[in-house]
This record gives sequence, C-alpha cells and structure tokens, in this order.
Amino acid sequence: MQPVITPLVGRPITLVDMDGCFFDWGNALNRILLQLDPNYPIVPLGQQMDYNHLCGPGGDRDILLQAMNMEGLYRNLEPMPGAIDAVLAMEEAGLNVFFCSTPFATHATCASEKLASIEEHLGSRWVNRVILTHDKTLVRGDVLIDDKPGITGNMVPTWQHLVFDQSYNRSLAEAPRLREWKDWEAALYPLLEMAAA
Ligand SMILES: [Mg+2]
Repeated sequence: MQPVITPLVGRPITLVDMDGCFFDWGNALNRILLQLDPNYPIVPLGQQMDYNHLCGPGGDRDILLQAMNMEGLYRNLEPMPGAIDAVLAMEEAGLNVFFCSTPFATHATCASEKLASIEEHLGSRWVNRVILTHDKTLVRGDVLIDDKPGITGNMVPTWQHLVFDQSYNRSLAEAPRLREWKDWEAALYPLLEMAAA
C-alpha cells in the first residue's frame, strides 16, 4: 500500500521591496545631493510627484548620477518607521518573507551593500532571504510590497502588488495600499486570503 502523501501547504510568500519601502532611500539620496552641492534643487520626500522625480528644475544630471552611484549610499539607509518590527512580526505570524530588490546597475557595490544593510538591521539569517533581481515578475510570491508603480517584466506576476505609500504612487488610487508599516496586517491579510482562494 502506498503511503499517503500529505501535500505540504506552503506558507504564503510575502516579498518586500527595499528602497523607498523597507528603507528610506529618498532622504539618503537627498543628503548626498546636498553634500555634493548645498544648493542642489532636491525634492523633499513627500513632494515627489513621479517615481523618477528626483530633482527640481535645473538639477544637474551628472550630480544626480554621481549621488546615485555614491559608494555607501545603500549602506547608510535608515529603515522606514516600523519596518523592522513589521517584517519580524510577519515572520512570527508564519509568513514566508523575502526581500526582493533591484540593485542599481551602475553602482559598483550596491548589491553587496544591500546584503550588508539587511544583516546589520535584521541579522545574518535574513541575508539568505534577499532576492536581487532586475525582473521582479520572475519571482514567485503571493504579495509584493513595493513603492514602485507599474512593475512589469517578462512574466505575468504570481504576486499581487501591495503599494507601499509614497507621494509619487498615489495615482494608483484603486490599488491595495500600505500606508504605514504598523498597519501591515490590515493591508496584507485580505490579499493573502485572495491569493489562497
Ligand atoms: Mg522601491
């Protein structure tokens, strides 16, 4: 008699974006821009109206690229308020949590800095839970929490996009939205039930 094989029901997979979602990338970039040029026309976080709206009129593109490629940028990011507690609470609740982030292609140490920053703030075991990719649609998951509007790639995503609230993504008025990390349960659980149905 064949043994009964009980299918293992996988824990729901929640993918968490890093820049502008788990980490405060925008303020870190602005600090570097002002170090390079105290008069640089930065756009304060909360006033960016487009995902790529990183400087005001007259912003020198070379300085912007210099800042975006600055060694240490991804090593000196502050977690968003409540982000660490939320991720640890998700794990505690039995969710399968992975970070899913796109390294900046021309930044020489971006990928290694991202890993080091996760280790610093969450411990070494979380380094094994970082997925770095330039195409998030290739990554399987139930929900992707991400500030970027319009995430596309080579596949139809298996995940639903839970928009992490930023001023530049509010045009996605109908999309599920996480306004603050402390509210993760109320925003995430309805989507996981939808994904499991
Ligand atoms: Mg992001």
